Amino acid sequence: MTPSAASTLVEKTPLETYVPPAKPSLIGLSRAELCDRLGDVGVAPPQRKMRAQQLWHWMYVRGARDFAEMTNVSKEMRATLAEHVTVDRPEVVAEQISADGTRKWLLRLPSGGDGQKAHEVECVYIPETDRGTLCVSSQVGCTLNCSFCHTGTQRLVRNLTAGEIVGQVMVARDRLNDWIDRETPNGNRLITNIVMMGMGEPLYNFDAVRDALLIVSDNEGIGISRRRITLSTSGVVPNIKRTGDEIGVMLAISLHAVRDELRDELVPLNRKYPLKELLQACRDYPGASNARRITFEYVMLKDVNDSLDDARKLVQLLKGIPAKINLIPFNPWPGSKYECSDWDQIEKFSEYIFNAGYSSPVRTPRGRDILAACGQLKSETEKLSVRERNALRAMAMTD
Ligand code: SAH
Ligand code: SF4
Repeated sequence: MTPSAASTLVEKTPLETYVPPAKPSLIGLSRAELCDRLGDVGVAPPQRKMRAQQLWHWMYVRGARDFAEMTNVSKEMRATLAEHVTVDRPEVVAEQISADGTRKWLLRLPSGGDGQKAHEVECVYIPETDRGTLCVSSQVGCTLNCSFCHTGTQRLVRNLTAGEIVGQVMVARDRLNDWIDRETPNGNRLITNIVMMGMGEPLYNFDAVRDALLIVSDNEGIGISRRRITLSTSGVVPNIKRTGDEIGVMLAISLHAVRDELRDELVPLNRKYPLKELLQACRDYPGASNARRITFEYVMLKDVNDSLDDARKLVQLLKGIPAKINLIPFNPWPGSKYECSDWDQIEKFSEYIFNAGYSSPVRTPRGRDILAACGQLKSETEKLSVRERNALRAMAMTD
């Protein structure tokens, strides 16, 4: 272990707490929780299931933002609901639209109460010819400290609630006019894919991420298929199998190094869950097959992990795992100690991997113009912009 790796904490303790608003939102509750909440506001037991189904439809198929829109629910019931609960999503404080159609929203979330700054996360939509991908965050900041990632340097950490995670998808559908009965009556939605590649380590917020993704993939609601949802993790081994069993989405692993010594430094969580255990968890990932490959993300760091010897070792390591590889050009940030590999070297690396049978596209990131304009937003946001750029690069290469 290098001295710098030894001095880096493996993980931070979440510093901030979540204080729910006085009138909580129904967004993010499971069907069972929704029934319970209806019970709390006085709905009689025999009616709860049917009412919950109605609400589910209004919230997740129609995108209703107010109980007043729910015309097949009695007036009295709508008034009772409005008195106690809402269907609010996170507040949009800024929207940026890039020349290439990429959109980015800055969302404000409730802070932990007095004296704490409002929490903010970003959510990015990237349209392509055959799909539209939404990059969603799971935490404010990140519990982990990867040495090449700007988000990891952020002190402020809070887990998002399931409602705040689903809320990002709702906001995007609102802003894109992407609900079923709006501008595209033929049923073609703009958002077809979700990547959990925004801020945060999703597997350190497992329950909320699971609950949120089950809602997002529910056929009677938002209805985005699990095969079109990719969760990226830096390698929280105990929750990898649970991801397959309990969520059933596609998996991406932030690998970035092929030797423990280097990975300990780049992704300090490796000291807790080393490569051997991580790759075994990938071999055992429920549902992985040649048709459902695991994506391995590999950030290209000049003279650190980009040699042909690394490429050779990478191919060896992934033997037997249905895998694809995403090479991500490193995004430097103020104070970062790495440089992006030379383009030449990225091509050589990519070619080696290609010749070994893996497709390894390196694509140009989207939405650069608006991302560059991030500095005009608040400082927290500026930090996130680097994060977003990484996510854009990584996600543009995920099926
Ligand atoms: N925390 C999760 C999910 C979000 S990160 C994870 O680490 O997997 C999305 C991808 O961007 C990860 O592969 C991450 O390692 C990568 N990334 C982070 N900082 C980067 C940077 N400065 N340049 C390029 N990629 C970066
Ligand atoms: Fe967290 Fe992922 Fe950044 Fe590592 S790369 S600090 S896990 S967001």
